[in-house]
Amino acid sequence: MNKTTATNAQGRQVLERIARIGPFLPASLTITRTRCGNPRCRCAKEGPIHETALLTWKEGRTTHTLYVPRNLRREVAQWIAEWKKLKSLIEHMGAAQRQFLQTRKKNNGKPSGPS
Ligand SMILES: [Zn+2]
Repeated sequence: MNKTTATNAQGRQVLERIARIGPFLPASLTITRTRCGNPRCRCAKEGPIHETALLTWKEGRTTHTLYVPRNLRREVAQWIAEWKKLKSLIEHMGAAQRQFLQTRKKNNGKPSGPS
């Protein structure tokens, strides 16, 4: 049995969509405002006015952060969007395989009729 065919139509569709996923990054991007630390800057009086983008992600129980420069924000946001897409496809694949398993059980382990 070819491993790539051990699914149903729904599963095949999900696999095709997974194949089209671009570079992905499991993390989140948070835009916050900070003070720059320069006592002569406007922010010393007015409060945090400098927009800064931070990438955060977890490794085990530790949360890591990484500064993302403005010119890379859009690209990084896209990687994160791809990750979200992939996560949802993984859920869909799970549903397809569970359904496939139910069908196989009903047919005593044989693949369902000619399809
Ligand atoms: Zn400042």
